[in-house]
Amino acid sequence: MLTGMHVAVIGGDARQLEVVRKLIELDAKLTLIGFEQLDHGFMGASKEQIDEVDFSTVDAMILPVPGTNAEGQVETIFSNEKVILTEEILAETPEHCTIFSGISNDYLDQLVKSTNKRLVKLFERDDVAIYNSVPTVEGTIMMVIQHTDITIHDSNVVVLGLGRVGMSVARTFSALGAHVKVGARKSEHIARIKEMGLTPFHLSDLDKEVCDIDVCINTIPHLIVTASVISKMPPHTLIVDLASKPGGTDFRYAEKRGIKALLAPGLPGIVAPKTAGQIVANVMSQLLLEQLQQREENS
Ligand code: NAP
Repeated sequence: MLTGMHVAVIGGDARQLEVVRKLIELDAKLTLIGFEQLDHGFMGASKEQIDEVDFSTVDAMILPVPGTNAEGQVETIFSNEKVILTEEILAETPEHCTIFSGISNDYLDQLVKSTNKRLVKLFERDDVAIYNSVPTVEGTIMMVIQHTDITIHDSNVVVLGLGRVGMSVARTFSALGAHVKVGARKSEHIARIKEMGLTPFHLSDLDKEVCDIDVCINTIPHLIVTASVISKMPPHTLIVDLASKPGGTDFRYAEKRGIKALLAPGLPGIVAPKTAGQIVANVMSQLLLEQLQQREENS
């Protein structure tokens, strides 16, 4: 239980509501900032404006998945209040106060550095990335169904990258009956692809491997689906690029060649916001419980 722990939840979308629910269940003391338009009156959580909060009692601060923007503004879907996370706010928090966000940027990195705070970037954690790969794959299946006129079963699918998303994508498309080839550059990845019963190839051979495919799913956050690769694909090929913006596809050339190429960011939050929220909530609450336990042991 998180009894006695004061957590400030600052902004966010539907995913953050799952975090709030979980923390209430664990009996944390919650201050919600940037939620005044939310109809749901969470019992045991107080909605406050950022300038009303006494941050000197805050043990942990939870930011939305993107953290802040480049100017320090926090996204607040449930409020018109302009919420800016400043150095003064962080400096007011106790020494042990931990900041949680999905990812970070230069602004947030600089802020935690100058105030000597610990920042936990949840989306860099393997557990969160692996759990998140499940709704990502489901969103990918949805996109492939929507944008092709063939079944996934018996289709030829190339997956690029055998990381946390690539592995889940490859395994699931194979389970749906697709003929899945996976491109990677490390010999251990090639071995793993073979062990999974899929067809491996080295990324240096990508040009040769795409001439008979129906779908190309990229998870590599570097330009890999180049104009040269696209020029070898059949005209009906669908490219779904899952890699973070700007993706790994030459979208300009794909459009010129008349090949449908879709950049598909943020699928978990789109297809399964509740699950995506629960993934963050479960991992975060575990980390908060560990933080509380450590503080109790040290005191
Ligand atoms: P990951 O575990 O780090 O996997 C990345 C893969 O890309 C690895 O196989 C890696 O291989 C390969 N790779 C990286 N740089 C490469 C390069 N220059 N050349 C060749 N291969 C390279 O990451 P992940 O968790 O699977 O996520 C993959 C991408 O999807 C990220 O950009 C992530 O932000 C994004 N994502 C998108 C969604 C969505 O909804 N669209 C959801 C979750 C994640 P090596 O090991 O050889 O480097």
